[in-house]
Amino acid sequence: MRTMLEVEEALRLITDRVQPLAAESIPATEAHGWVLAEDVYAPISQPPWPRSPLDGYALHAADTKGAGWDMPVTLTVVDKIYAGGVPTVPVRQGEAARIMTGAPIPDGCDCVLRQEDTDLGTERVTIFSEVKPYQNYCPAGEDFREGDVLLCKGTRLTGRACGVLASAGLLRREVLLPVVRQVRCALFCTGDELVTNDTSALPPGKIYSSNAAMLAARLAELGVLVVRLAEAFPDDAHALAEAIRQAEEEADLILTVGGVSVGEKDILHETLPLLGADRVLWKARVKPGSPLMFSIHEKPILSLSGNPFAAGATFELFGRAVLAGLAGCGDLLPVRTKGILDTPFEKGGGMRRIVRGYFADGRVTLPEGHASGQLASSAGMNCLVDIAAEKGPLAAGSRVDVWLL
Ligand code: AMP
Ligand code: MG
Repeated sequence: MRTMLEVEEALRLITDRVQPLAAESIPATEAHGWVLAEDVYAPISQPPWPRSPLDGYALHAADTKGAGWDMPVTLTVVDKIYAGGVPTVPVRQGEAARIMTGAPIPDGCDCVLRQEDTDLGTERVTIFSEVKPYQNYCPAGEDFREGDVLLCKGTRLTGRACGVLASAGLLRREVLLPVVRQVRCALFCTGDELVTNDTSALPPGKIYSSNAAMLAARLAELGVLVVRLAEAFPDDAHALAEAIRQAEEEADLILTVGGVSVGEKDILHETLPLLGADRVLWKARVKPGSPLMFSIHEKPILSLSGNPFAAGATFELFGRAVLAGLAGCGDLLPVRTKGILDTPFEKGGGMRRIVRGYFADGRVTLPEGHASGQLASSAGMNCLVDIAAEKGPLAAGSRVDVWLL
């Protein structure tokens, strides 16, 4: 048996074997949450014309030269332009146009003077301040210009990105956007001890399956469609192999949880050969969840260890790497940053460790309860702390690497 792989090595092996899904075209109005398969270009400039960023007077900067409270300058007001309106006359030297925020700046004007520096005149306006050319002047295309790449391939269409599409007039039913097909995942949580929440009183020896609810929800949060959800699949290698075979017909990814360690009921060791799957890796040098497996059959199969914190943490590291590969979208990966521990971490040891934490303002607080079978303390957490082998125990004040969730 090969020595255990480092996490990064395992991630490399996984991502090398995962190809992005084919693109499809969907109406832009339904694209929220999808990942762009091609660059999208701007069909117009935004703003389409120079516009005023404030309420005041559009004028020629040259006319304001030397103006001040003790040196007022008076100009003739020739137009009044509201947001939504258009200039009706050109503005010549010695003239000004009353203008409101968001209105088009008339031809000839190269700046806007804020109304607070004027007498607010209607026929004639007296101004008390100089303005420089292009001061308070938003040029056409300030946001983007016609022909620019508006959104890059691989961008996930978040609310912000939908706003960008809308600002270019592209958020219409008849605009078809090339997107990576939504990843479809089949999730199998295995264990004879598991029951679903439909069982109101726990029978002896049984526990509720938490991983199914946790991971199905995380998958949905990441934009993945869960096409098959087995909350409490029996420890039956043949039945699992058959169920995986069926699920592969509609799923892009098979995620199994439980049964990857070395116990007699750790059925994945039997299931994968029954399927004829190619096991790419087993075990990564990380605690908890080290006996994870990754295999390729008709579809990629990621098999995580069943202890709930182990399953959750290795999903964030390895599951999201598979999803990022399938979706061709790097922002499906957890963001990595650094933080200062506010709580000491008592454990040491020769294995790299992932610990749950709460990250805010660069500081990381650790909860009580770090065992891989303890899930309750994870609920309010928002990061995973990456503690290198031989680095623990860590005192409060230590600098640590963190993945944000
Ligand atoms: P396994 O990975 O199958 O060896 O399971 C490791 C531990 O995690 C055992 O104590 C299991 O009972 C527990 N476990 C496995 N799957 C689940 C699940 N879906 N929900 C809650 N606990 C689980
Ligand atoms: Mg088990």
